[in-house]
Amino acid sequence: MTKKTARTANSAGKAAKPAKAPKSAETQLAEYRRKRDFTRTAEPAGGKPAAGKKLAYVIQKHAASHLHYDLRLELDGVMKSWAVPKGPSLDPSVKRLAMEVEDHPIEYNAFEGTIPKGEYGGGTVMLWDRGTYSYGGTDPDPLEGLRRGYAKGDFKFILHGKRLRGSWVLVRTGRGEKGRSQWLLIKHRDEYAVPDSDVTADHMTSVTTDRTMEEISGGKSRVWHSNRSRDSEAPAPERSAGQPAPAKRSQASAYQRLIARRKP
Ligand code: MN
Repeated sequence: MTKKTARTANSAGKAAKPAKAPKSAETQLAEYRRKRDFTRTAEPAGGKPAAGKKLAYVIQKHAASHLHYDLRLELDGVMKSWAVPKGPSLDPSVKRLAMEVEDHPIEYNAFEGTIPKGEYGGGTVMLWDRGTYSYGGTDPDPLEGLRRGYAKGDFKFILHGKRLRGSWVLVRTGRGEKGRSQWLLIKHRDEYAVPDSDVTADHMTSVTTDRTMEEISGGKSRVWHSNRSRDSEAPAPERSAGQPAPAKRSQASAYQRLIARRKP
């Protein structure tokens, strides 16, 4: 018996299907808007198309009923979004649960502030990291590769942020509450991987305003420290060319072990 017997007859032997035609940002943002009263929250309603060609990336630290980190990656006019309770880890042996949430508008990437208590997601939001990202797989068409990866639940991407860089993957593992997909966020082994590190503890202030969560919730305005070096902004230490990578490359990564276990 082969794996093919488990599939429907007409799917066997077909070449890789193109990902479904992307839905409009308006359609994708319907749930986001339904949950919010824009007369009460300063969050954006969204819908303005992105100008640049580079795909946006942001992580917002969100002290809602439970503290979490919202990872958002632009795709087809919206920010695909995942709530990561423990936040990202630079350790490739660590898998972090990432619960998919509703698509957000691209303008949300600039949001830092406090969502009023009693409103959806009420609590303080900090811009924890931001930048761009690119496709991390092997498809010759990067955008199609991203769409296929998202559809397959094996979404490979390369972050170009201020705090997070390098190759990552989100792997879909199943369904959680309210039919939301559960994914795992994993750092691939590369020069930006740091075993036994705690990147969320290393960066406790806003990537754009340098404020703490308390300063944001207290409404303290932007604090600029243009004339001092910001320790928390220091880039990950560069490894010199001759220095060995910290982990054995032959050893299977968390990602490889997960993919091997996953049903097709
Ligand atoms: Mn959130």
